[in-house]
Amino acid sequence: MIYPDLILHSDQWRRLASAFRQERLAHAYLFYGPAGSGKEGHAIELAALVNCRQPDDNGACGQCPACIKAKGMQHPNVQLVVPLPRRNGISKDDPPLKALRPADVDNLASQLGTKAGDPYFKIHLEGAQSILINSVRELRRTAYLKPGEAGWRVILIFEAEKLCYPQPAAANALLKLLEEPPDWTVFILVTDRPHLLLDTIRSRCLGLYFPQLTSDQVAGYLKKHQGSTEGEARVLAQVTGGNLPQARQMAAEDGVQMEVLDQLVANLLAPEPTSWQQLVNDLALLRYRKSLEFATRMQLLQLWLRDLMFLQKTHSEDGVIFSQRLADLRGHLDAHPDADWGTATAAVQQVLIHLERNINPTLALTNMILDVREALGGKSTSGDV
Ligand SMILES: [Zn+2]
Repeated sequence: MIYPDLILHSDQWRRLASAFRQERLAHAYLFYGPAGSGKEGHAIELAALVNCRQPDDNGACGQCPACIKAKGMQHPNVQLVVPLPRRNGISKDDPPLKALRPADVDNLASQLGTKAGDPYFKIHLEGAQSILINSVRELRRTAYLKPGEAGWRVILIFEAEKLCYPQPAAANALLKLLEEPPDWTVFILVTDRPHLLLDTIRSRCLGLYFPQLTSDQVAGYLKKHQGSTEGEARVLAQVTGGNLPQARQMAAEDGVQMEVLDQLVANLLAPEPTSWQQLVNDLALLRYRKSLEFATRMQLLQLWLRDLMFLQKTHSEDGVIFSQRLADLRGHLDAHPDADWGTATAAVQQVLIHLERNINPTLALTNMILDVREALGGKSTSGDV
């Protein structure tokens, strides 16, 4: 393999590698599934495998000149298409890079270098909203020529849904290629959002689903590569729902801000209505200014309450996410012996659902407080609100 750090989806990889060995590769694949699951890394691994000079049982050797070139996107048989910003007006036959400023071209080259060492790195140029039709036209100019070196030509199209934005012109141009696929060529379209692709494109590709990594896999990665502690790694894996690059970024930035979570929990569980009001105001403001940070805090809060529910029901410490904070969790359980922590957890979840439906944040958060207060009083009482 060319990426030692790629967490392999074994079933998907076995299917691809054995299709290659049996000379039964599809002309076009659609790698789809949630963000951060390693789809692009697997696509580049396949591009390397089909051009590698000494593949082993697992995949590409990772050492030969073809592998080195494939990894750095320097192999003449491997072509990469990504969304690009359109800075300059270009005409029909211009290469896509002509749409960029020199600084963008340098930036792209530097990001390709990063991608060569990190399968989870996301190539992104500012202002890149769509895949330019000139990128597809360039593919069409070379697609029917023989590959530059022995092996397979692999055309990687990342964020493939952007073929269809704002107009499906690039998608329609690609469709003509997919309808008459050139020999010795494999297209790999990669997307987190396959529903945004044209049906006609989807139906020409063999779909391969890449599920989210498990919490254990993400936590293991964070411990090994980010130096995260066991407790922090588990929390980050849960908060991000198994999105490895997002978890890694959070680990690199602030980690888990336990003091922020402690304050949230303290305000939520405090008996004074002024604390609840403070909580609603702070969170509503955060939602307005930094919606991602808001979502992370709500998820942390939900995990904390979920731990309380878990401990209350099972009395087992094994599945506790904040395992480093057992004493504090037990303190909360003792302080609210009749609480229905399951209802409290659901009340926090409900806020996120409400906000997706554009319900006013202050209203959604106030409802959360009312529901949590009632849950704290236990199922049998009407609460103290
Ligand atoms: Zn090789």
